[in-house]
Amino acid sequence: MNYDLLIRNGHVIDPASGRNGRFHIGITNGMIQKVWEGNDDLSLPTATKIIDAREYIVTPGLIDLHVHVFTDKTPLGIKTDRIGVQQGVTTVVDAGSAGVDTYPIFLEEAVTNSETEVLAWINISRLGLCGGLSELADMTQLASEETARLIKSDSRICGIKARMSASVVKENGIKPLYVAKKLANELAVPVMVHIGNAPPPLHEVLELLEEGDVVTHAFHGKKGGIFTKDGSLLPEADQALKRGVIFDVGHGTSSFSFATMKRALELGIKPYTISTDIYRHNVDGPVHSLTITMTKLLALGVPLEEVIEMSTYNPAKILQREQVIGSLKEGTRADISLLRLKKEPLHVTDSEEATILTSSYLQPELTIKSGKVLRCI
Ligand SMILES: [Zn+2]
Repeated sequence: MNYDLLIRNGHVIDPASGRNGRFHIGITNGMIQKVWEGNDDLSLPTATKIIDAREYIVTPGLIDLHVHVFTDKTPLGIKTDRIGVQQGVTTVVDAGSAGVDTYPIFLEEAVTNSETEVLAWINISRLGLCGGLSELADMTQLASEETARLIKSDSRICGIKARMSASVVKENGIKPLYVAKKLANELAVPVMVHIGNAPPPLHEVLELLEEGDVVTHAFHGKKGGIFTKDGSLLPEADQALKRGVIFDVGHGTSSFSFATMKRALELGIKPYTISTDIYRHNVDGPVHSLTITMTKLLALGVPLEEVIEMSTYNPAKILQREQVIGSLKEGTRADISLLRLKKEPLHVTDSEEATILTSSYLQPELTIKSGKVLRCI
């Protein structure tokens, strides 16, 4: 057997298969052909290209469930590959930058010329974030029928985005979420809901969500979050978690608090997915990248294997693509990240300028996208 690419002796951590140890990975035609154990170089098959991964942690290609990559037409967008394959991330999901009217331009700008796979949560408002950041303040801008047609015709769209905070919905309160949920239920897709400052109050938002729906910014430190003033979990948050509603990090400029995350972990509540909400204005801090966001969860005591699961297999399941991405199982696409756990101190900062000094951090070194080797920056 001659492989196109052989990644040998890496420390493979693949939560989906339970593998955690030294493995070789053989890749042909952009697919993972074989994964096998061993430190034995003598009996290795031949390959056109070989990567000695002894110093790396080898994970499924990282998946970022919440980014903004619609450049030019929104005030937020950042170049896809800058936060994608150049940072070890093989799939990004744009979270509502585009609505049905602006989606064709989004495809041209963010998707067509990118090495990174781009999926999308489509904004329930027809312009997405292209007409300003109060996209749900005018109910006539919500475009159910056209959005439904688009979702049915484009498999890159994985669900519907609704940003439910005061500055976005203005006088409309919870109403836009009714529209988004109704449509999502008709099409059997999830919604991703951004939470922030009330109105609408968080309990009203959570009460509408069902299994598989995603609450992004779940661990923000603003008033009216998942904890009451005395630090106990909001009953509606508890019930939502029990129903299978997904709590996602969605770091962003102002939406991730170490104090909130710490309190959640004390109560045994972990994020299901780690996403960045990365865009032009937070890439130089506090967000930086997905691996730095993962590092923050490590610094708060979440084990490495779980942090990797929250950034690979779990988002793949939300996207209903776990047969293709999110694992290193044989027969899946060869999307793979080679990371280094740098044993150096680093200060990491949340959205409230709280800082933790960590003793190590994750750094992306190489990205394999559909079998193609790309160097990280
Ligand atoms: Zn966002």
